Amino acid sequence: MSIDRLRATEVMYLKGVGPKRGEMLSKQLGIKTLYDLLYHFPTHYVDRSRFYTINSFHSEMPAVQVKGRFVTFTVHGEGAKMRLVGLFSDGTGTMEVVWFRRIKWMRETYKVGEEYVVFGKPAEFSGRWSMVHPEIDTPQSVQASAGLRGVYPLTEQLRNRGINSRTIFSMVQTLLQGYGRTIEDPLPRDMRMRLRLMDKASALEAIHNPRDVSQMQEARRRLKFEELFYLQLNILNYSRKRAAKMGGYRFSRVGELFNRFYFDFLPFPLTGAQKRVIKEIHADMKTGRQMNRLLQGDVGSGKTLVALMCMLLALGNETQACLMAPTEILATQHFETISKMVAPLGINVKLLTGSTPKKQRDVIHSQLLDGSLHILIGTHAVIEDNVQFARLGFVVIDEQHRFGVAQRARMWKKSAVPPHVLVMTATPIPRTLAMTVYGDLDVSIIDELPPGRKPVVTVLRYEDKRLQVYQSMAAQLRAGRQVYVVYPLIKENEKVDMKSLEEGYRQICETFRHFRVAYVHGKMKPAEKDYQMNLFASHQADILVATTVIEVGVNVPNATTMVIENAERFGLSQLHQLRGRVGRGEGQSYCVLMSKAAIARETRKRLEIMTTTTDGFVVAEADLKMRGPGDIEGTIQSGMPIDLKIASLASDGDLLQAARNEAEHLLESDPYLDSSASLPIVKEMRQLFDKAVDWSMIS
Ligand code: ADP
Ligand code: MG
Repeated sequence: MSIDRLRATEVMYLKGVGPKRGEMLSKQLGIKTLYDLLYHFPTHYVDRSRFYTINSFHSEMPAVQVKGRFVTFTVHGEGAKMRLVGLFSDGTGTMEVVWFRRIKWMRETYKVGEEYVVFGKPAEFSGRWSMVHPEIDTPQSVQASAGLRGVYPLTEQLRNRGINSRTIFSMVQTLLQGYGRTIEDPLPRDMRMRLRLMDKASALEAIHNPRDVSQMQEARRRLKFEELFYLQLNILNYSRKRAAKMGGYRFSRVGELFNRFYFDFLPFPLTGAQKRVIKEIHADMKTGRQMNRLLQGDVGSGKTLVALMCMLLALGNETQACLMAPTEILATQHFETISKMVAPLGINVKLLTGSTPKKQRDVIHSQLLDGSLHILIGTHAVIEDNVQFARLGFVVIDEQHRFGVAQRARMWKKSAVPPHVLVMTATPIPRTLAMTVYGDLDVSIIDELPPGRKPVVTVLRYEDKRLQVYQSMAAQLRAGRQVYVVYPLIKENEKVDMKSLEEGYRQICETFRHFRVAYVHGKMKPAEKDYQMNLFASHQADILVATTVIEVGVNVPNATTMVIENAERFGLSQLHQLRGRVGRGEGQSYCVLMSKAAIARETRKRLEIMTTTTDGFVVAEADLKMRGPGDIEGTIQSGMPIDLKIASLASDGDLLQAARNEAEHLLESDPYLDSSASLPIVKEMRQLFDKAVDWSMIS
């Protein structure tokens, strides 16, 4: 039976399943076909290689197995409270085996005096040991599955209907005995040898019924690898196809503008990392193919300057450039910084946002079309269809995660030749994840901060230290510094959050009566928001009470303190983004994570990471490890193309890299994936990605 047949055969046709159970498996676990059953893997394993004795039981014990005989069966209680108790003895002691469901069936199945192996977690009630609904086998059947035993994901409903982990195990065993050995391996032998991978049939067998821990790990490794390999191959294959299709501008020159800026007007020497990424980007824009590149750099690493210099490259090659920011404030800030920096070069730079007056808008439109406007900076207003360029060569998208994928794609259409695209983000996505989530985007990383930055001192403070926190805030304020106070505002909890935000605002106003307080949250009208933000940015306010709307990009170097309320409710990456708002000037900056005293140990550990490092990549890795990839805030907007069944992007970084290498290797030797050796691979990949997202939407 080939994998195809397993995919095409409904699970009810497996011996011992039938239509009724088949439907339950399908409804409760999504197991529709034999293939689904085969790929329903245990979530963990229990050790069935040794027997325990009842006299050695203790309360911390995991599930264990005991060999012995039932002495008596008695029914207690009535109706809903009815339970069956079997007294079980192994010669060293006795325990009660208790059933609340399927009492009749149990009573008929198990016999007094016969030998059974009972497997469950011992519990102690008033000096008596008991097990509730344990798994029960005959010694012979236990022998068949000695060693590690998989524990399968189940639902309560299935348990009530008598389908337990053991039942699933038997079904899988029936399946494997019937067809296991005939499962072909799509991965070529040399690849398997290189990576020391088990063959597929053995891996599927071993993952369900491993001999020991190391065999189980090898099986999992093999199956994880295969999954990650298809994922990588699919992404790479797609991006190659697109690269072959999409010609782009060839920026062969550096140009005079770039050189004049670099030699005469650079406000400070570039960091090594800035130089390197500018080179990488230029090399990519020279190839004649359209560039799609992600520029990652921690907050404050100087991405704006890199973007500007690349825009000058574009201008030097007779094209226009455009920079898009997610908010009006950010766009305005970029416009001001960039206009100032290029003032001596005689470049025409304009700002376009939702609030640009019609008259100015018209000027912008016509200058874009006649080519006299060189750099356009704006919000998503620049995406609108009536914004057309004469020759748009380069687009920079700042803080990408606020932009939808589809919006990005629209920028391509603004030019007959698609412009090069640089997406900048301060969310430090670990490389393994970036490589997968951003698919075909190439990645450049600024891994160095400009010299002389003082790391933000971060502390964790519990509620009982609030007074001291306010005192340090006051000290900063009196020294002429500004302070952020940030509250969580989360959709699911909006009403309550809104209240604590308002409450907090009142408290701050009262406590700091001699200082001016601005107030901003996402529910405000944009105009009001901007007004409040500007009060703070122009130092007409000393304190800004806000929600995470300030997370992205705001630059107020005089703000040296950030207090984050209910810090335990933020993700690490988000805390890091927030913290990036301070430490932008000369003064020593502080970040205070406020939390209620009673938090779980895990949560405290998470927050303590923030106090020990200011490195965004370390924070992101920790975030990924502790909370899984689904939670890196706002980053993986487009999500994954498929649900991974067994591999984890969080913990299988090395395998992911290996899969990437193998996928590249294969595409080098077989660019069209049309050799006979590649056929089975392509087939499997197609199967997996059939229902998946269309990657062509992702720029
Ligand atoms: P981000 O990467 O967070 O967007 P910015 O581009 O806003 O960072 O830069 C942060 C600050 O660092 C700005 O004030 C900028 O002028 C400054 N900066 C950028 N590059 C350098 C450099 N090479 N040396 C010193 N300061 C720099
Ligand atoms: Mg920035």
